[in-house]
Formats: sequence, structure tokens, C-alpha cells
Amino acid sequence: MENCIFCQIVAGNIPASKAYEDDVLLAFYDIHPQAPVHILVIPKVHIPSVDGINAENSSIVAHIFETIPKIAAAAGLTGGYRVISNCGPDACQSVPHLHFHILGGTKLAEQMA
Ligand code: AMP
Repeated sequence: MENCIFCQIVAGNIPASKAYEDDVLLAFYDIHPQAPVHILVIPKVHIPSVDGINAENSSIVAHIFETIPKIAAAAGLTGGYRVISNCGPDACQSVPHLHFHILGGTKLAEQMA
């Protein structure tokens, strides 16, 4: 999608600091990190949000979650990490392309909202 910033990153039209990539997903460092390690994991195909996950594309999401532990380990998150996906306006989703935040590298706040 031409007007989707994350699709443009996948296409190589916008630069990103990549943490991991395979045929299905791309992981890159968030430009406004909210923790010492803040990585975004996105499907290469455009899925707008968690609300767009369905029986046809859920294998992509399964692959993302199978890969997140490897991405976290490669980033040195030996003490644990948090995975978050903001969905819709009440969650303040700002980029309408499904993404999972990996946050870590410090003791995170107990409260999530
Ligand atoms: P959300 O608010 O959950 O939709 O998260 C979107 C995230 O994308 C934010 O944490 C932004 O800092 C991040 N972001 C937006 N544009 C870029 C970009 N070009 N490269 C890396 N991260 C980005």
C-alpha cells in the first residue's frame, strides 16, 4: 500500500534499522524508543491491525510469535520483555499496519495502561 509507512519500509522506500527479516516478517527498531530496546515486528503483507487477523492470515501471526523469542534473544533481552499491539483509537494505534512492539532492556513498569 503506497500510503502505508510500514509497507514503504518493507518495500525499501523508507529506511529502517532492521533487527531481523525473513520472507514473512520484518523487525526494526522504533524511531521513538520507549524502552532501552524497542523493536517493532510487522508482517510484510498489509494487515491493518489485530482486528484484521482472520483464518486466512493467522498463520502469519503465528509465525511472528514463533519468531519473537529469537528476535528478543538476538537483541539481548535475557531478563524478559513485553509484547504489545495497540489496536484502534482507544489504544492510540498511530500506524494502521499490524505491528507488535517488543519492549525490554530494563525492568518495565508493572502497569500497562
Ligand atoms: P503504534 O502507536 O502502536 O501504532 O506504534 C507505531 C510505532 O511506530 C510508534 O512507536 C512509532 O514511533 C513507530 N514508527 C513510526 N514511524 C516509524 C519509522 N519510520 N521507523 C520506525 N518506527 C516508526
